[in-house]
Amino acid sequence: MNRYREISSALLSWYDRCARDLPWRGIHDAYRTWISEIMLQQTRVDTVIPYYKRFLARFPSLTDLAAGDEAEVLKLWEGLGYYSRARNLLKGARQVVEEYSGKLPKDPRLLAKISGIGPYTAGAIASIAYDIPVPAVDGNVQRVYSRVFGVRENIRLPAERSKLDKLAEVLVPQDRPGDYNQAVMDLGATVCIPGTPNCDQCPLSDFCNAFERGDAADLPLIPGKPASRIIRWTVAVITDGKRTLVRQRTESLLQGLWCFPMLECSSEETPSMLVRKFHLAAEPIRNSIHARHVFTHLVWEMDVLPLRTAAGKKVPAGYRWVSTDELNALAFPAAMNAALRTAKELLREEEL
Ligand code: SF4
Repeated sequence: MNRYREISSALLSWYDRCARDLPWRGIHDAYRTWISEIMLQQTRVDTVIPYYKRFLARFPSLTDLAAGDEAEVLKLWEGLGYYSRARNLLKGARQVVEEYSGKLPKDPRLLAKISGIGPYTAGAIASIAYDIPVPAVDGNVQRVYSRVFGVRENIRLPAERSKLDKLAEVLVPQDRPGDYNQAVMDLGATVCIPGTPNCDQCPLSDFCNAFERGDAADLPLIPGKPASRIIRWTVAVITDGKRTLVRQRTESLLQGLWCFPMLECSSEETPSMLVRKFHLAAEPIRNSIHARHVFTHLVWEMDVLPLRTAAGKKVPAGYRWVSTDELNALAFPAAMNAALRTAKELLREEEL
């Protein structure tokens, strides 16, 4: 047996003993694999499981999803983050209905042309759902391979990236390619983790260059990320006694989700200056509270300010007054959690 086959068979035996029991495992269903893989991008498995179950209870098939509306899809995605994933999923489902009669194609090149499906997801769907021997290379897999094969150059460089892609292609076996890809993903998520890996539990330690050299914690080599940009906002939670003011975002970040009125502010701006900007004659009712939300390349530092205005005030275009029930029905991003809690508290107090 050559070294590559020894590695893949060691990984598969480990997978047979230690595979995580996950709701999307053990089924050959391309739609379910697609949903799980999209939800798992940048998101922990434990977080994904309840979202996955709720999503499939509402949209049990690809055609059900294609017939769904965006507001409902976003509501089911609420709190999971990276909302463009949800919008692209819906767009992709409609594309599959139109171009492939509702069945995801087997060919990874065709899969990669569907909205929201990149090379990694195409490889995952083709191998897991259709047993096609193609790799699925994400950050976890790159980490494992860069350690096992001792790739000590910047893996963002195209030459190094293509080295890892070629290794991945050679390693994926003809037999059980889907299980093999899931085995590497599991290994990267539970054993060969970022920072100091758990080499004592690893089925690949006999083959691993970084283990032998003792520098696994330094790999893969990724140049420092650029610093996150910080934006300061005042988030106005404005009530008229029965309702609160919200706005559906049209910006590309969090597009389609609902937020409270927000004003980007310099450190010199005060709450009363903000109120004037809204032309609402609103009065602060409590001190503001601070909230922080970290996006991939961006941090929002927010002062959430509760305000009271007279009932029946006209609002700028794009804004809407909503009751507590409507507030519960709309999809808000996690960045608005503190403001949402404040709004519900204010409305509850008004009811008492
Ligand atoms: S031996 Fe350690 S570094 Fe190498 S693949 Fe296993 S966990 Fe990762």
